[in-house]
Amino acid sequence: MRALVWFRSDLRTHDHRALSAACAAAGKDGVVGVFLLAPAQWREHDWGGVKVRFILRTLRELSAALAKLNIPLIVERADTFADAPESLAKIAAKHRCAAVYCSREYEINERRRDAAVEARLARDGVAFHSFDDQCVIEPGAVRTGEGRFYTVFTPFRRAWCRVVEERGFVAPLPTAPRQARLDVAPSPIPDSLPGFDTGVPDNLWPAGEDAALARLREFAGKPLTHYKHHRDFPALDGTSRLSPYLAIGAISPRTCLHAALQSNDGKLDNPAPNRAGQSTWISELAWREFYKHILAGFPRVCMGRAFKSATDRIEWAEDRGLFEAWCEGRTGVPIVDAGMRQLRATGWMHNRVRMITAMYLSKDLFLPWRWGERHFMQHLIDADFSQNNGGWQWSASTGTDAAPYFRIFNPISQSRKFDPSGDYIRRFVPELADLDGGEDGPIHDPTALPELARARIDYPVPVVDRAAVRDRVLAAFKGVA
Ligand SMILES: Cc1cc2nc3c(=O)[nH]c(=O)nc-3n(C[C@H](O)[C@H](O)[C@H](O)COP(=O)(O)OP(=O)(O)OC[C@H]3O[C@@H](n4cnc5c(N)ncnc54)[C@H](O)[C@@H]3O)c2cc1C
Repeated sequence: MRALVWFRSDLRTHDHRALSAACAAAGKDGVVGVFLLAPAQWREHDWGGVKVRFILRTLRELSAALAKLNIPLIVERADTFADAPESLAKIAAKHRCAAVYCSREYEINERRRDAAVEARLARDGVAFHSFDDQCVIEPGAVRTGEGRFYTVFTPFRRAWCRVVEERGFVAPLPTAPRQARLDVAPSPIPDSLPGFDTGVPDNLWPAGEDAALARLREFAGKPLTHYKHHRDFPALDGTSRLSPYLAIGAISPRTCLHAALQSNDGKLDNPAPNRAGQSTWISELAWREFYKHILAGFPRVCMGRAFKSATDRIEWAEDRGLFEAWCEGRTGVPIVDAGMRQLRATGWMHNRVRMITAMYLSKDLFLPWRWGERHFMQHLIDADFSQNNGGWQWSASTGTDAAPYFRIFNPISQSRKFDPSGDYIRRFVPELADLDGGEDGPIHDPTALPELARARIDYPVPVVDRAAVRDRVLAAFKGVA
C-alpha cells in the first residue's frame, strides 16, 4: 500500500509521527510527500512575504532531506483550502496511494479543510490518517478537574507538567528509514510567489531542519543556562530564536523539550538555582502549548472575536494616521519605534518588545488590537495564528491574562528597565544613537531634552500624550466590565 504524506506546518523529517507511521504502513510500496501551495488562502490568512519565502526555502531543504530517503516531494498549487480535496484526490490517484497521512492543524478553516479532504478521499476508498504533532501534549488533553479548558496560564502549566510526567516523556522519534527508489520525480520549488515579496535578507534566517537543529544545539549550551536573566533584554541575544522554525514545524516541540530536559536533570521544573534558565525556557514552551489549547477550546478566537466577549463592545479609535505612525516606527516613543523597525528589518521582534508595542497600540493609541494583530501576521517570519492572537489579546486585555484590565505598561519605564544602556534603541533608531542611556538617559524619552538639543535630532515628538489617553482606555474597559 503506497502512502501519501501531506506536509503542512510540519516541514521536517525528524520526529514526525505522520511520516513515521506512513513509512511503517507503506513498507516496500513506498511513501510520496506532497505540499500544496495555497497563495490565495495564505493571503486571506494575512501571511506575509517573509513567512512565505521562509516556507519556500524550507521546502527546498525538506525536498533534499526527503530525497536522501528516496521520498519524492511533490509541490502543487491549490490556491485555496477549497481546492485541496480535489488536488489531493488527483495526486493520490496518480501515484496509486491508498492512504494520506498528515499532522493535525487546529484552526477552524484548517479543520474544515481536513474534514472535506477526508470525505473526498473516502469516495475513492483512500484512507485519511491524522496525528497530533504540533504540541508535546495535544490541545484538549490538559483539563481542569471538572473537565474544562484552562483559561489562565499558571494553572495550565502545572497541569501540563503533570500530564507530561504521567504519560512519561516520549523521546523524539528517529528519522524515517530510507526506502527503495520510486519512479516519481520531485517537483521544482518556486523561489517566490507573486504578491509575497520581502525585504528581509535570507541570511538572517537559514532555512530547514538542519538549521533549526543547529540553532537548538547552540542555544541549549550556555544561552539556555542564562535564559532566565537574559530573556527580557532585547539588546542581548538571550533567547533561542526558534519560533520561526516551530511555527512551520521545521523542528518539533518534543525535540526542543528533550534538549531542555537533558540539561535540566530530566526535570520540567527544577528548583536548583543553576537550572533556572532551563526551567524558565520549558515554561515558555508551555506558553506556546497554552495558546494552541485556547485556540482548540475557544474557537471564537479564530473568528475575529475577543476571548473576553464583553470587550468586543469596546469602540476603539479607528485612526489610520496613528496606525501608520505605529507601523512605520515613528510614534516618538523610542522603544516602540525600535521594535516596529526591528520587525520590518528582520521579520522578528523580541518578546518583551512585542508586549510593549502591542500594549502601546491598544492602550495608548487605543487602536483596534486586530489592526495590530494583522500587521504582525503580515510581517512576522514566525507568524502563527494561535501565538499571535494570544499575544495580542493578552496585551489588549481582551484575552487570557490573569491580571485585571488595567495592566498598562509605561513604555518609557519598560525601556529604562529592559534596555538600560539604550543599545537596542540605538540599533534600530539610528537618529537617537548619540543620546545617553542609563537610568535617566534621554534615549528612552527624548522629550526630556532641553529644547535646543531636541531640535537638533530628526525624531518625532510623541504622537499622543500618555497622561491624557490613560483615562480613555480605563473608562472604555470600565464601560464593558
Ligand atoms: C503581541 C504578540 C504577538 C506574538 N506573535 C507570535 C507569533 O506570531 N508567533 C510566535 O511564535 N510567537 C508569537 N509571540 C510570542 C513570542 O513573542 C515569541 O514566540 C518569541 O518572541 C519567540 O522568540 P524565541 O523563539 O527566541 O523564544 P524563546 O524565548 O527562546 O522561547 C522558546 C519558544 O517558546 C515559545 N514562546 C516564548 N515566549 C512565548 C510567549 N510569550 N507566548 C507564547 N509562546 C512563547 C515560542 O515558541 C518560542 O520559540 C507573540 C507575542 C506577543 C506579545
